[in-house]
Amino acid sequence: MKSKSVLVIGAGIGGIAAAAHLAKQGMKVTVLEKNSRPGGRCDRFSRDGHHFDVGPTLLVMPLLYEAEFAALGTSMHEMLELQRVDPTYHLVFDNGSKLALTSDMKSMQQQLEAFEPGSFSNLLRYIKEGKRHYHVGMEKMVNRDFRKATDFFNLGNLSIPFQMKPFVNHYRNMSAYFDDPRLKAAFTFQDVYMGLSPFEAPATFSMMPYTELAHGVWYPQGGMYSIVEALVQLAVRAGVEFEFEATVERIDVNGSQARGVVLDDGRHIQADVVLANADLPYVYNNLLPHDPKGRGEARRLNRKRFSCSVVSFFWGVDKPYKELPPHMLFLADDYRDNFKSIIRDLDLPANPSLYLHAPARLDPSMAPEGQDTVIAIVPVGHMSANGEQDWAGIRDRAREHVFRRLKTVGITDLEDHLKFEVNFTPLSWLKRYNLTKGSTHGLCHNLLQLGYLRPSNKHARYHNLYFTGASTHPGTGLPTAMVSGRLAAQRIMDEMI
Ligand SMILES: Cc1cc2nc3c(=O)[nH]c(=O)nc-3n(C[C@H](O)[C@H](O)[C@H](O)COP(=O)(O)OP(=O)(O)OC[C@H]3O[C@@H](n4cnc5c(N)ncnc54)[C@H](O)[C@@H]3O)c2cc1C
Repeated sequence: MKSKSVLVIGAGIGGIAAAAHLAKQGMKVTVLEKNSRPGGRCDRFSRDGHHFDVGPTLLVMPLLYEAEFAALGTSMHEMLELQRVDPTYHLVFDNGSKLALTSDMKSMQQQLEAFEPGSFSNLLRYIKEGKRHYHVGMEKMVNRDFRKATDFFNLGNLSIPFQMKPFVNHYRNMSAYFDDPRLKAAFTFQDVYMGLSPFEAPATFSMMPYTELAHGVWYPQGGMYSIVEALVQLAVRAGVEFEFEATVERIDVNGSQARGVVLDDGRHIQADVVLANADLPYVYNNLLPHDPKGRGEARRLNRKRFSCSVVSFFWGVDKPYKELPPHMLFLADDYRDNFKSIIRDLDLPANPSLYLHAPARLDPSMAPEGQDTVIAIVPVGHMSANGEQDWAGIRDRAREHVFRRLKTVGITDLEDHLKFEVNFTPLSWLKRYNLTKGSTHGLCHNLLQLGYLRPSNKHARYHNLYFTGASTHPGTGLPTAMVSGRLAAQRIMDEMI
């Protein structure tokens, strides 16, 4: 029997993973990527011997990676040289107090009791709750898809409200564990990875601090881009063909069928199946025809809640800053106002929380000897509909905040030692990766955008058009994008063969 052909639009993590699965099943798979290399927002660049991971810097949820590499017929440890990062994050609060989050429970006990007597036993209770949320969540929400409503709304899922606290607000839930607002912040800031503020996120997401403490935060030698290289290697081994600098201009549809794609150089390529990995709202807005049904869905998606964006600074520095840990977070006292300003006002907070990453602490080859490589990430609102935000001004204010914060921990001269700076604003995320509104994590994970309510991996009308990636099911994050790729591939195999 002639093998079916699949065109994958985009070589992001979801696209590469799906392509590898499909090729392993004997399909003829071609990935078309507009950029000159694979990875999507899990990108990298190098300058003067400094190496930068552009998007992700944290390998979290290692069990998911393990399962996904196993599903591709290999093992995570075979493909990636991993080291555990412990302490995971060094947190710094406005009053100068510090907390190093670590899996060393003795150290956690000492640190937490100094913040709030009795808080360590409450952390253990919180972790226990996070553990339940993690395991139920993986089984019932992440590691499966919802092809029809009854896959989600059924008797088997009736216990979810009791098992995962989806209707309980995460920040409010913290009052059951801690009084000190710094501790509440220390164990909820991870909601940002879901594109959410802890003041709106379900308590379900206590699964994130749990997995970080229990399963660890890891770092692959060579940086996060090694994950992309590993997946591409598996895909090529399975027979996938990649074409770079190949921008898809539109998906060619007819009736209820996708016939293939049209590239911006005028080429038409036909296929039995089209799988779009480019950001889902972008696909509906830009690659599908303007017929009433397609536009309706595009409009519906545009009205959904998007995650925030970030301003990122990539600095090559002419001396090492050994006092900078691998992952450092400054968490602002005005935690609630921070999120209001980002999510409601689509702006930069007056006193922003921010994150610094010094990869050379983990892998010295990320910077030339005697120098350093530093990444600073400042969360900001995504692009507004009218596009009137002054991104250059916001970027410059964000940079001042990073240097101001660094001075509070005794790093006073980093600005004087910059060899060069590359920076990204939401406009960069939009332009480079076609991320709608410059939203770095795509559609957020509020209750109305989870499970069956999240956009599905298949188009409602075009029977052979499928989707994978952060804005589809199960959602954002590298390991989740791998799951999304596997689920989309499985659905294609189930329905098209
Ligand atoms: C700043 C930042 C920090 C992050 N931190 C972490 C982290 O620490 N840990 C973690 O697990 N996750 C993190 N994430 C999230 C993670 O990077 C994403 O969830 C994941 O990479 C999404 O992959 P995807 O499959 O959706 O593909 P995408 O990355 O969206 O890739 C889609 C691809 O499609 C291509 N494309 C778009 N349009 C076209 C077209 N018309 N024709 C051809 N190709 C096209 C794009 O160029 C891109 O390569 C972070 C993301 C960002 C941006």
